[in-house]
This record gives sequence, structure tokens and C-alpha cells, in this order.
Amino acid sequence: MRSTPRIGTEEVLLSIRDLRVTFGTPEGQVMAVDGTSLDIHPGEVLAVVGESGSGKSQTALAVMGLLARNGTSEGSILWEGREILGLPEYQLARLRSEEIAMIFQNPMTCLNPYLRISTQMIEGMTMNRKVTRAQARSACIDMLETVQIADAANRIDMYPHEFSGGMLQRIMIAMSLLRRPRLLIADEPTTALDVTVQMQIVQMLQHIRQKYGTAIMLITHDLGLVASISDRISVMYSGQIMESGLAENVFSSPRHPYTQALLDAVPRIDRNDRKLRGITGEPPGPASRTSGCPFHLRCAFRMTSCVEHRPDMLGSREHAHACHLSNET
Ligand code: SF4
Repeated sequence: MRSTPRIGTEEVLLSIRDLRVTFGTPEGQVMAVDGTSLDIHPGEVLAVVGESGSGKSQTALAVMGLLARNGTSEGSILWEGREILGLPEYQLARLRSEEIAMIFQNPMTCLNPYLRISTQMIEGMTMNRKVTRAQARSACIDMLETVQIADAANRIDMYPHEFSGGMLQRIMIAMSLLRRPRLLIADEPTTALDVTVQMQIVQMLQHIRQKYGTAIMLITHDLGLVASISDRISVMYSGQIMESGLAENVFSSPRHPYTQALLDAVPRIDRNDRKLRGITGEPPGPASRTSGCPFHLRCAFRMTSCVEHRPDMLGSREHAHACHLSNET
């Protein structure tokens, strides 16, 4: 049995360096991820935050080796110090089955509607393993109880359509944890759910991290939702990391204008005005990336250098950001 990793160790589980993901299209090559670097340590929760199209999901899919057929990735992805970018499919499949699990926005796309939950869970557990069906069933029921599915011993034999969206997402979390992965990538796991259920899922992920020591890469567009459970945050925009650091640093003193705007857009009951704030303009799509700082078309602090030069990421693991303003102060 694996020992529970210590949270916050210097050991790095996943290290992504200068990752670039491009897709071949009839209009030419489009870049979805443009030089992203990030680390995930054992047992920590890293929130990767950004708007749709910022490259968050493609970064995760590159880690899993699950890019669409027209996608290619370059750079480096180290798993426990071993390069996994470019591994043959059978080795990636083993990694996905044993070490890294991923759940998606809509659990129904991952479950077979014609099969009972028990059939789908037990099959995943017994595949390539010396486990009897009875042992697997018992372990599956235990895991369903861990994710707080009431009456799990009976409900395990129900079909997916008999569960609510929030329960299905909890079942997906249970399925993903059966092989005790060291990293769980959760790609917008709450987006399709009601607001009240969203927080339950986030609290469930927190519980999983505490119980099993599973590191979690939580991909979301909702900075407010992840505030309570993240150890560190990376803010992505237009395929690049804009700011990263310890959650308390990013939340208490955001340095990048994009992060500041994202935080300003989070509704807060302690603010006097009741206006919903947004960020003016649209993020550039992968086919229309600009030179210089990717945020310059929407930034209120834009300078000439912002249009011409891409800012470097400056700072430390505790807090870093990429903005020319930091050179001006
Ligand atoms: Fe704004 Fe310039 Fe900083 Fe980009 S580099 S966020 S455009 S000030």
C-alpha cells in the first residue's frame, strides 16, 4: 500500500516545462498552449484558472496523452522525473490506469448509459488485476461510500440515468480513485452543476485529498470556487501562464492585471454595489494569437512595450507573474 505523501513537500510529481500544443487545421497550425510551465507536488491542490480557450484543458490532455488526432505537443512533461511526452500509447495507457486519473465536465460522456454502475466500476477494477469480482464489488461500494453515495450497496446496481448530475460526478470521482492514482486531474468538474452542488463537489475533492493524499489539478474558470481548497494557483490566458503562486499570495495581492480583473469579477457580498463586473473584450482564439503580451488588447495598463515584447515570468515559486508593469516599478 502506498504511504500518504506529505503535503507541501519539495518533491515534484508532475513538472511541465515550456509545453506547446498545436493543432493542424485547414487554415493552418493553431497554437492552443504556448510555452506553459507548471509543477504539481505530492498531495497538493493546484488550481489552473482561466477563461474558455485559455489552454487549460489542452494542457491536461497533453499530460494524459489524449490530444485530438490533429494535435501535437512539444516541450517536456516529467512524471516523477521521467519524461512522458512522446511515450508509446501502451505506456501512457498504463500511466493513466495506475498513476494519473482524469474526470471531465460532463460525467455522462464517460459512462455507458446502458450498463449498471456496478458493471462499469468493477470492470475498471478487475482489468489486468488479480482481484475477484466479489473483492472488486466490495471495494467499489466502499469508494462510493467515501464519496457519500447513500445506500451504496444497493445503488451500485442502478443505471446512470437514475442519478442526479452531482451524484454522477461523485461516482466518476469514485471510479477515478479505485486504483489510487497519485494525481487526479479534474477538468471543470462542477461547470454543469447547480451552484449548491458545485461547492459539495469541491468539498468532496478536498476530502479525497485529505483521505488519500491525492494531488489534484483542478481546472476551472471560477476563481471564487477554488479559493477554499487550493494550495497554489496558476492563471492561464491565451495559452500562457500569467501568474502563479501560493493561493494566499495570489488572492491577497494579485499582481497581474488579468488576475486582478478575474478576482474583481467574482461576486462578493461585502461589496456595496451590486453590479456584476466582467472583463471587457474577448480573449483571442487559438487562431488569432497576438504578439507581445497576450492580454494587451484588454489591458487598461497597456504600454508600447506590451504590444511588442512578451513579458517574462518573474518571481519565485511562492509568487510569480508575467507583466511589463513589474519592470516599471
Ligand atoms: Fe497589461 Fe502590459 Fe502587463 Fe500585459 S504586460 S498585463 S498589457 S501592463
